[in-house]
Amino acid sequence: MPTLLVENRAGLAHEMPAGHPEQIARLQAVLDVLAGPEFAGLIRAEAPMAGEGDLLLAHPAEHIAAIRDAIPDRGLAALDPDTSVSPGSWEAALKGVGGCLYAVDQVLSGEATNAFVATRPPGHHAERIRPMGFCLFGNIAIAAKHALERHGLSRVAVVDFDVHHGNGTQDLLWDEPRAFFVSSHQMPLYPGTGAPSERGGSNNILNLPLGPGTGGAEMRRIVETRMLPRLAEIAPDLLLISAGFDAHRADPLANLNWDTEDFAWITRTLCAFAGAHCGGRVVSTLEGGYDLDALAASVATHVTVLMEQDG
Ligand SMILES: [Zn+2]
Repeated sequence: MPTLLVENRAGLAHEMPAGHPEQIARLQAVLDVLAGPEFAGLIRAEAPMAGEGDLLLAHPAEHIAAIRDAIPDRGLAALDPDTSVSPGSWEAALKGVGGCLYAVDQVLSGEATNAFVATRPPGHHAERIRPMGFCLFGNIAIAAKHALERHGLSRVAVVDFDVHHGNGTQDLLWDEPRAFFVSSHQMPLYPGTGAPSERGGSNNILNLPLGPGTGGAEMRRIVETRMLPRLAEIAPDLLLISAGFDAHRADPLANLNWDTEDFAWITRTLCAFAGAHCGGRVVSTLEGGYDLDALAASVATHVTVLMEQDG
């Protein structure tokens, strides 16, 4: 089965203040590179809208209403110093969630081996009742709950290799013993969470902080010695990935020194794990990545490796 690419073109209408790193050009760069001839083998789909019932898997109704009510008719509205919404943000956010749920459906039904969701805004900083860090709703955590609640999976794992800690995903999955969340991230760095002592309500969270300057060799050692053994113990039915590419050495928001080839390596390693433990089922969604050239190159290599798994 081929790899599915879910494109959230509504994300191109989610505006942020001028000069903000989480800019429309990020998603455009990703869509442009994935339009190249080497990606002709992808199945492509436009992200469908999520419904309120989907958001309710992770967020209370009052919180959903508060974000909807904050969307301005024109211009921008700031939810916090980092996070703004524009008239196009509601559709962008709901299609981001909907795209992740659709990808889970297609992979679990066997229509695709694995999937990548090209979207913005990102989701891994969005807590249960607090949008933050450029994120409105917890895309990947909602996808995890969708897989558990609606597809009846016994266990899912979320791997987050964005350079920032996925505090939102951690918050949303803290009390979900069927979900395992593992995050590698620079520490200290925004949002400040992600210490090893944060283990979840049932030891279902593993935080692997990396010091500033950590390069690919040390990352690979930690993935092999810390992440993979725990994932093997968990034996998930589905592997979800919060794919942020801001650990790249070129990224302006952080100080890790991964190269594009390191993103190929971690993708290949996670796909090999999924091949051995969960039928190759992987759903990956875009989180951060703020140097446009590094982002495009890293997404290209990530999706190339996903496509190599087609069996
Ligand atoms: Zn990030």
